[in-house]
Amino acid sequence: MTNRKDSAERVDHFTRNLLSWNEIDPARELPWVSETDPYRIWVSEIMLQQTRAITVIPYYRRFIETLPDVESLANASSDQVLSLWSGLGYYTRARNLQRAAKQILDIHGGVMPSSFRNILALPGIGKSTAGAICALAFGLRKPILDGNAKRAYSRFHCVDEFSASARERKLWELADLHTPEQDCRKYTQRIMDLGATICLPRNPLCHLCPVASKCCARAADRQDELPVKKRKVVRKFKSINMLIALAEDGQVLLERRSDQGIWGGLWSLPEYSGELDDIENWLEGNFHVRASSQGSWSPIRHELTHLSLVITPMLLEVRQVHDEFENHSHFRFVSIDQELDHGIPVPVSTIFGRISELRQKEFTCWRSFLIVSASGFGQCKIRSSPHQHYWKNYDKNREMHCARRGAASVALSTCTGRTWG
Ligand code: SF4
Repeated sequence: MTNRKDSAERVDHFTRNLLSWNEIDPARELPWVSETDPYRIWVSEIMLQQTRAITVIPYYRRFIETLPDVESLANASSDQVLSLWSGLGYYTRARNLQRAAKQILDIHGGVMPSSFRNILALPGIGKSTAGAICALAFGLRKPILDGNAKRAYSRFHCVDEFSASARERKLWELADLHTPEQDCRKYTQRIMDLGATICLPRNPLCHLCPVASKCCARAADRQDELPVKKRKVVRKFKSINMLIALAEDGQVLLERRSDQGIWGGLWSLPEYSGELDDIENWLEGNFHVRASSQGSWSPIRHELTHLSLVITPMLLEVRQVHDEFENHSHFRFVSIDQELDHGIPVPVSTIFGRISELRQKEFTCWRSFLIVSASGFGQCKIRSSPHQHYWKNYDKNREMHCARRGAASVALSTCTGRTWG
């Protein structure tokens, strides 16, 4: 009985203190805080899943500016939606967001539903997100249990059940107990703020915390061990080759990936996993593009939740594009300079950045320069442009180590009319 009374007092203390907490960092001016538009709240909640607020801000602004309501999202092309999401990761979220917008248009006349049941029925919306939309947009009393709330409740109550499902059940019970009848909108915002600014994953700022005096983890010095950590996912390693098929006009071949798997629906460089000797045949057989292989660049590392990728960009010089190419709407050549109207994976954007860096504006024959670079010759000291001076200060010994020096010299001489090396 005493325990139950004590527990009720602590719950009451937590909720009351959180509601009267006025020390929120004024710098934390997030564009969705104080928002009451259900569409905007929904977009921000989906973006904030698995992503830090600071990362989300520019994406959120761009998304809302371009697609300001349910109707514009439902009617946008999937390429446009993925392009706005490009770089945020977890692209299923973007695809579900658009599927849900289409459902809202079809079933609810374009108006975001206001009942918990109808919101929960939309694709990509779980119990906590539905609760947050109900509370923040409609002021309904619905508990939430996002990562921030989970951390704060776990620590405040020392929730350390061994089984993940028992822990989840316990945390939902607590979330329900804590959520007040009145001021639910304010409480929901505050519990998210507490986790995001004070009860941080590492080094929580307990001295600033409005509920510190009754916090179990703080009293027992257990902040570091709570919430109970999930078993660490062991990332697998995978090596892939990405082909940069470069046309004479500087455009690069991209293909639209299938909706399933990583980077689903994004436009990416063709991925090749066969024998290196067979790249040219493979490209011609699959993409109807004849090209000659020119070497590779140093690999790029890219980390995904379950996968550690080592990506080797391989450069090919396009010689001919066969007529059959036009029959495939999921292949295209794009200029890396123009603003893309579709999403690309982060490593592809990194590779485009490398190409841009290597490209010298005053160097008209830049494709040859890229080939030189891929051949290893570009590793030599390249000091200045225009191209006549590229080799001005190069290190003779280093040059000897450039594996494909001969090919590089030929490529450059076709461009400059001079003999190199
Ligand atoms: S006292 Fe520390 S551990 Fe407890 S809720 Fe506050 S910030 Fe988190």
